[in-house]
Amino acid sequence: MRIVCPFCGERELGEFTYLGDAKPVRPATGAAEDEVYDYVYLRDNIAGVMSENWYHGGGCRAWLKVTRNTLTHEISAVEPALGAGAAKVDA
Ligand SMILES: [Zn+2]
Repeated sequence: MRIVCPFCGERELGEFTYLGDAKPVRPATGAAEDEVYDYVYLRDNIAGVMSENWYHGGGCRAWLKVTRNTLTHEISAVEPALGAGAAKVDA
């Protein structure tokens, strides 16, 4: 599998680290215990298209949001994740 980094171009998988489902949002400080438990421990096991967080540690060190089909590994979109990676888009 190869990933097209928006900053570095097409690179092989070994340069990236998988960081999991991009959908869960960290609960606010003081959130209910159930909400924190769900965020930390519960994940969907999607067979199909899902958004994932990847880290390009072997390249630009940006956090990326990759839209990938978990059955075929087909990647339909790669974009900077919110945070440091997104700040580089207009640089
Ligand atoms: Zn990169």
